[in-house]
Amino acid sequence: MEQAISKIKTRIAEACLRAGRNPDDVTLIAVTKGRSAAEIAAAVLANNHHILGESRIQEWRKKAAELQHSEWHFIGNLQTNKVKYCEGFHSIHSLNSLHLAAALEQFGSKKNHTFRVFAEVNVTGEKSKQGAPLDKVTALVDAARKMAHLEVVGLMTIAPYEDDPEKVRGIFRELKALGDRLELPELSMGMSGDFEVAIEEGATYVRVGTALFS
Ligand SMILES: *Cc1c(COP(=O)(O)O)cnc(C)c1O
Repeated sequence: MEQAISKIKTRIAEACLRAGRNPDDVTLIAVTKGRSAAEIAAAVLANNHHILGESRIQEWRKKAAELQHSEWHFIGNLQTNKVKYCEGFHSIHSLNSLHLAAALEQFGSKKNHTFRVFAEVNVTGEKSKQGAPLDKVTALVDAARKMAHLEVVGLMTIAPYEDDPEKVRGIFRELKALGDRLELPELSMGMSGDFEVAIEEGATYVRVGTALFS
C-alpha cells in the first residue's frame, strides 16, 4: 500500500511545479501530536522521513527519548516555564510575544545556545488564535533580532479551518508580503487542509499531521 506520506510528498512536489518552485525549497514537518512513538515510527520514520513537529512539550519529551535521530520542530504555544526544555528543538515556530523572546534569550545566554525562531503572526486577528497581531509583528521581530541568542529566520501562521482552502489563500499571501518586507526568508504555513495553497503562496515549511495518519 502506498503510504500516506509519499502521497503528501507527491502533492507537495506538484504544488511546487504549479508555482514554478523547487520542491527542495519546501520542508515537510510531520506533525506528531497525539500519536504514539510506534505510530510515528510506522507512518513517518519507516519512510525515511525524520523531520517532526510537536505542539506539547511534555508529550514531546517522552517521544524524543524514544525516537532519537529526529529533527524536531516546536509548533505549539510555548509557556516561558517550559523554555528550559527547548534546547533540543531545531526550530521554534511560535515566538508570539516579547515576554517569550526575553525568556528564550535569558535561557539561551545562560546555556550559550541560540534558538532558531519564527515569529508567529495572527493575520486575521481572531481572538482565539495565538500569534502577534499584524500591528505588533514588526516590533516583535525587531526586538528579537537584537537578542544575541535568537536567530529570527521567518514567520509562521495558522490559518482558520475552511472546507475550501482557497478561502485562506489571502492569509498566506499576506504572510509572504510581510516576510518580504521584514526580509525574513522562511514561511511556516499550511496544514493538512491547505498546504498546497500555502506552497503556491510561498511556504517554505508545511506542517502536516492528520493527512499523514489517515
Ligand atoms: C496540529 C497542528 C498542525 C497539523 O494540523 P493538521 O490539520 O493535523 O495537519 C499544524 N500546525 C500546528 C501549529 C498544529 O498545532
